Amino acid sequence: MPAACLRENFTYMTSEPFKTMCCVVGGGPAGMMLGYLLARGGVDVTVIEKHEDFFRDFRGDTVHPSTLELLYELGLLEDFLKLPHQELTSVGGVVGHFAFQAANFNHVPAHCKFVALMPQWDFLSFLSERAKKFRSFRLRMQHEATGLIYDDGRVAGVDVRTPQGSVQILSDVVIGCDGRHSTTRRAAEFEVREFGVPIDVLWFRIGRSTGDPEQLLGNINYGKALILVNRGDYFQAGLIIPKGSFEEIKRKGLQAFQAGILQNAPYLGDRVQALDDWDQIKLLSVQINRLRQWSRPGLLCIGDAAHAMSPAGGVGINLAIQDAVATANLLVGPLREGRVSEALLAEVQRRREFPTRVTQAIQVNAHKGLKQAFGNPGPLKAPWQLKVAVRVPGVQRLVARVVGIGIRPEHIQGASRRPGFDKFCVKVIAACAGIAAAAFVLSASCRRAN
Ligand SMILES: Cc1cc2nc3c(=O)[nH]c(=O)nc-3n(C[C@H](O)[C@H](O)[C@H](O)COP(=O)(O)OP(=O)(O)OC[C@H]3O[C@@H](n4cnc5c(N)ncnc54)[C@H](O)[C@@H]3O)c2cc1C
Repeated sequence: MPAACLRENFTYMTSEPFKTMCCVVGGGPAGMMLGYLLARGGVDVTVIEKHEDFFRDFRGDTVHPSTLELLYELGLLEDFLKLPHQELTSVGGVVGHFAFQAANFNHVPAHCKFVALMPQWDFLSFLSERAKKFRSFRLRMQHEATGLIYDDGRVAGVDVRTPQGSVQILSDVVIGCDGRHSTTRRAAEFEVREFGVPIDVLWFRIGRSTGDPEQLLGNINYGKALILVNRGDYFQAGLIIPKGSFEEIKRKGLQAFQAGILQNAPYLGDRVQALDDWDQIKLLSVQINRLRQWSRPGLLCIGDAAHAMSPAGGVGINLAIQDAVATANLLVGPLREGRVSEALLAEVQRRREFPTRVTQAIQVNAHKGLKQAFGNPGPLKAPWQLKVAVRVPGVQRLVARVVGIGIRPEHIQGASRRPGFDKFCVKVIAACAGIAAAAFVLSASCRRAN
């Protein structure tokens, strides 16, 4: 380790490359969890993040029961839950004027039977603070990877832009956790398989008041879908719109935009008038894609860098964290011993591709249902199949299990697990098949309703 690099207010005093065992590119959920776990396993790890802080509004805010379970296994849960958060025990929906409960987390086989809603910057700060307690962990903010360094055909590090100038970070392995606009995957020329997405999301805040719904609510009607996430004194709102329609929405003006929101959530009343500038409304383009190959010698991509997720189901963060756990479980020992082979990096994809494929397939189907609903300017009539499905005993538990725990949940190596978790996983896989079938029936029925 170059002596010139200080642990906290570090500075590069020479133009010599900086050396680390593992360079993690991106300090999002995947990168921070991976950095924590590698450092916990004694690996010398450097996480680089291009921004100067974690404070960005467009990140998802959901910490699922399976992630909370990992925090329990790491002995961090109690402290984590001391941070301000809301506990989401159920997820509701309103299609047309039909209100229903889609998921109920009361029965998920985990210590926490809820989704914790917490601004992602708090979650990432929590992980980084804990990780800094390990001597072998380094977090470098305002460090942007601009390209890969090769040595004899093998990735051997990253070129990095910092406020002080460019530096090279050399490492045995580079792990790209740099999200859906990943520089690492582009630099490695990985082939990306795109799954067309018919939606974009407009992201903004609206004040909350007493009497507003407490739980997460999705409201589909009048050719759009409005998601309201309770963040205490305000809602983080996501208006799902047909892809490419934002310019048209802007042309119609802010008053029409406010009126459109009120159509779906009349209880917001005068509060929508606070949305009086388009600068308050951010367009987030949604993608679903997946790399054919997640690794090459010296480089592995995980999280959204390997498979960009849509917000549907709010499961992308969870999946990214599960990837990080699988990666750490496979790589900690070999990294410490300096024997990370190409085959071992490929093993991460083998383990994580199946859950990714199933989750993305469910999201693609959910998008198809939304596309159908958008074709109907409303008021929308909830299909009878939906009304029947939500009354079938066990359906809400099933949805909660797939959303809250996911497919093939990972565990911290060596940690003691909650009894019964494994048997439950088999049930989850069966449940996914059921949900995919239900999504298919629903989208077919929406088609007929139109
Ligand atoms: C509108 C929208 C809403 C969503 N809401 C939810 C939700 O509520 N719940 C949920 O579970 N999922 C949600 N998702 C999906 C979720 O955001 C992603 O699946 C998840 O963030 C992936 O985590 P990650 O760590 O792989 O990548 P990211 O969260 O994208 O993190 C990547 C990090 O890398 C950094 N970075 C990028 N390039 C570089 C570089 N060159 N050098 C250094 N650093 C770099 C970025 O600044 C960022 O911090 C949503 C997605 C969208 C589009």
